[in-house]
Amino acid sequence: VSSEKDAALAAASTSPDSPTIFDKIINKEIPANVVYEDEKVLAFRDINPQAPVHILIIPKIRDGLSRLAKAEERHCEILGLLLYTAKVIAKQEGLEDGFRIVINDGPKGCQSVYHIHVHLLGGRQMEWPAG
Ligand code: C5P
Repeated sequence: VSSEKDAALAAASTSPDSPTIFDKIINKEIPANVVYEDEKVLAFRDINPQAPVHILIIPKIRDGLSRLAKAEERHCEILGLLLYTAKVIAKQEGLEDGFRIVINDGPKGCQSVYHIHVHLLGGRQMEWPAG
């Protein structure tokens, strides 16, 4: 039963073209605490922070990248840019002693918003393994 439920949840939530809450943030229809923005990338503080610094870095154009599992070779540039931007913001936030980058993918990876995003977490000691 639980695997049926998982499959139903996955099917309902992974439609690559459905708008997500992040489209509303990109379009400034709902407010976000933006820490970085350029032509291709937007970064804002997570509304439910899991660390003193918790920032989400997203592409402004999703281009099919609802989740990392949908990545194709043409996405390599934006994927690299998301990671590089995470590093730039980590410096901006003063995370010289280290930080963590997370990409949750799919139901088993605890993804809840299907517009790819990189989590930047820092400002406390991280633990390993992650839960
Ligand atoms: O990786 P996952 O898809 O679970 O992450 C989505 C993140 O988006 C969550 O950490 C959630 O707190 C955040 N969020 C947000 N602002 C919203 C909706 C979700 O920061 N309006």
